[in-house]
Amino acid sequence: MSELLFTKSVKGRCGASLPVMDVSKAEMSDSLRRAKPAEIGEYSELDVVRHYTNLSLKNFSVDTHFYPLGSCTMKYNPKVCEKAARLDGFGSLHPMMPVSGALDRCQGALEMIFELEKHLAEVTGMDAVTTQPLAGAHGEMLGIMLIASYHRAKGNKKRYVIVPDSSHGTNPATASMMGYEIITVPTADYGDMDLDIFREKMNDEVAAVMMTNPNTLGVFNPYIKEISDIAHSYDALLYYDGANLNAILGKVRPGDLGFDVVHVNLHKTYATPHGSGGPGSGPVGCKEKLIPFLPKPAVVKNGEKFELNTKGVDSARITSYFGNYGVLVKAYAYALMMGSDGLRDVAEKAVLNANYMMHRLKPYYHLPYDKTCMHECVFSASKQAEKGVHALDIAKALIDRGFHPPTVYFPLIVPEAMMVEPTETESKQTMDIFCEAMIEIAEMTEKDPDSLHEAPVTRPVTRLDETLAARQVDVRYSR
Ligand SMILES: *Cc1c(COP(=O)(O)O)cnc(C)c1O
Repeated sequence: MSELLFTKSVKGRCGASLPVMDVSKAEMSDSLRRAKPAEIGEYSELDVVRHYTNLSLKNFSVDTHFYPLGSCTMKYNPKVCEKAARLDGFGSLHPMMPVSGALDRCQGALEMIFELEKHLAEVTGMDAVTTQPLAGAHGEMLGIMLIASYHRAKGNKKRYVIVPDSSHGTNPATASMMGYEIITVPTADYGDMDLDIFREKMNDEVAAVMMTNPNTLGVFNPYIKEISDIAHSYDALLYYDGANLNAILGKVRPGDLGFDVVHVNLHKTYATPHGSGGPGSGPVGCKEKLIPFLPKPAVVKNGEKFELNTKGVDSARITSYFGNYGVLVKAYAYALMMGSDGLRDVAEKAVLNANYMMHRLKPYYHLPYDKTCMHECVFSASKQAEKGVHALDIAKALIDRGFHPPTVYFPLIVPEAMMVEPTETESKQTMDIFCEAMIEIAEMTEKDPDSLHEAPVTRPVTRLDETLAARQVDVRYSR
């Protein structure tokens, strides 16, 4: 356990110098004073800088380590985007600033939302976008609300939402939170929702089909047009989970594949570092027929002016103010910086990198869906598990070797799953070093499997009871 800053306090030490007082001293009444001085630590600046720098080095982050966490797109985030988000006109703007009249000081801030929404609509092939949702799951909730409003307005009686068994857990969770029953369709040999079983399960009471394409196995569904036609013939809408757009940016648009609603995780694809519950943003795009149900206010352009439209059928907000505004600025800066060629290049390199790693590791780890992958690939540690070394042991062994582990035990349909997503920002050298570590671990499984059960041995904590740690959080310090 590392020392807390409190225990490092030394009486009389000081890290700040205040300017000489240039106003007269004001007396404060005793009723406002503390009975005894607050116990605030006393430090030099150097004490504090070292303390926090050392704490930060205990973490894994994209800025310190390769982080191939599948379905999470932990890519390098250009620092210039952070700088843009901190520009005074964005970072210091009060959210209650009037948008019209003499005090209107936020035209630029509104224009940024307007332009980002336009960009996302273009990239996803949608007719309109709202940037209000604060995360992917929040976007999914709004997306299903739009679909529910659509069916309600048409008088459709709908009870079910269809998801493939490879889907991200938030998909069925969202649909069931919104009151739908879930129908799960199994994955076929080709690595995506079985078309024949889907056709059998489809019925008049299906409200929506929620999919991601490429799916969480990194497989692009070859039958997506058929699925879309079948769903629409029952007036069911197609929902695209676009948490990870890396594989399709500038290549294919969900709207052109028949999807009616999409959410995008800006904190995966568009340059906002995430993890540990950091700020996110899950904009939602939709086709024309759902526009009346979008939340308000929406930024609209009236002549040369940007205004807020608050009128609509469902004029409810789904967040306070304008969502996670700083994340939106970062995403917009990223989109402008990359340009359309740059975004297409992201997709090409993300897919190339994932395929490179897949081919390098295939001789050592079982690959349940052995085909060209998109932005990520899923191995199984089933061969290693026969020797008593499980995906969790491999993940922990990677920590000792200086890597954040890939996603393990997801998707649920692959036993001992290890889901690797290198992203476009990694070099061949970095991927090679990681692959060599994976190969060395595979060899250790043969030679000395027990040594892998102790890992990690180089970190402040070793094996944790992860369930208990999440359920019974204990953040108190005891000496
Ligand atoms: C990350 C992710 C989500 C959820 O996004 P959050 O921002 O974590 O709520 C949904 N679907 C897929 C496929 C994801 O990878």
